[in-house]
Amino acid sequence: MSRKRTLRDLPAAALDGKRALVRVDFNVPLKDGRVTDDTRIRAALPTINYLREKGARVILLSHLGRPRGVEPAFSLKHIVRDLERLLGAPVEVIPDPATGVAATRRLPRGGVALVENTRFWPGEEANDPAFAALLAALGDFYVNDAFGSAHRAHASTEAVAHLLKPAVAGFLMERELEYLGDALDKPQRPFVAVLGGAKISGKIDVIQALVPKVDEILVGGGIANTFFLAIGFSVGGSLVEPEKKDRARALIAKAGAKLILPRGAVVAPSLERAAERREVPSDRIPPDCAIFDIDQATRLDFRARILQAKTLVWNGPMGVFETPPFDAGTRAIAEAMVAAGERGAVTIVGGGDSAAAVAGFEDKFTHVSTGGGASLEFLEGKPLPGVMALEDA
Ligand code: ADP
Ligand code: MG
Repeated sequence: MSRKRTLRDLPAAALDGKRALVRVDFNVPLKDGRVTDDTRIRAALPTINYLREKGARVILLSHLGRPRGVEPAFSLKHIVRDLERLLGAPVEVIPDPATGVAATRRLPRGGVALVENTRFWPGEEANDPAFAALLAALGDFYVNDAFGSAHRAHASTEAVAHLLKPAVAGFLMERELEYLGDALDKPQRPFVAVLGGAKISGKIDVIQALVPKVDEILVGGGIANTFFLAIGFSVGGSLVEPEKKDRARALIAKAGAKLILPRGAVVAPSLERAAERREVPSDRIPPDCAIFDIDQATRLDFRARILQAKTLVWNGPMGVFETPPFDAGTRAIAEAMVAAGERGAVTIVGGGDSAAAVAGFEDKFTHVSTGGGASLEFLEGKPLPGVMALEDA
């Protein structure tokens, strides 16, 4: 993908006093109307604050959740107080883009407004040019900083970028594209990918795209189970997708020695009966048990391989990490990645659950992607519509 024009490329005169229409990803988790994790809001601050310092008037666009039409539970009003606290400035809400132009013109230099949840209007997900034109009228130029939404061609991520120029990438978007892009296009070798997570159907395209690029791909988590089935091992009551068996077998043949499967597993009769867990080799999964984590031998094997790498990309937990003690394998991989980073490797984590698994020590990685689905599609080599629509540098 060609390099995109970024906020940094715009001269001061293009910002001062101008209305910056900024697509951010404020799709934060809410509980009882309160933000339970403000990571995504904080991730947008460098772009917002830069624009404010340059004298721009900042008009923010985001979706929140999956409302069906106007649903107050999904109102962005729920996040205004957190946003104001993080910015240290008041935020004006624009309840309807169709009637919002006057409010954007009234904003002072450095002022911030937030347009209501773009998904309240059907034109958003339809990528409707008429709705995009309403959005475009709210700004003098467009900034997309919503990497997490860039894999969707929606009015606020795609159509609007064709109507409002300059259309550039914000700092978060720039960072995501730079780290993920460099890792894929010019990795320091050895380049090792670690893939895990629940379902192989969501990851098999990623594995297929990564195989020619990486030196090794370490597979754990639920997705390893379908590979086991493809080899002829039985997996008991484990999560598995038999319909993907043939593709898994083809991938094993194609990847050859690059594809590393777990040597053994932590199994138990059920998640609730964790006290009965034990470690077994991968070809000895008991019929009345399910795989919930990688075993100690695999942790050591994967750790040794990770420590030899110079570029690491990790997506997907190694086990049911939400339910200790089945988080141990995932934690071991996280620790190995941190240790590799301390030895100079570039370490990149992508994926929603993977990011959650390293929450609190993100700073020990080179980059933790904020985009779950978007980072996966990027790794698959798919063009991201929200990025494609931006101007080339
Ligand atoms: P990410 O969001 O990082 O891309 P996924 O959504 O693909 O990751 O996978 C995360 C889920 O995978 C977690 O909920 C975890 O419990 C589940 N998982 C991992 N290993 C297993 C396993 N062996 N059996 C069942 N579920 C698993
Ligand atoms: Mg997930």
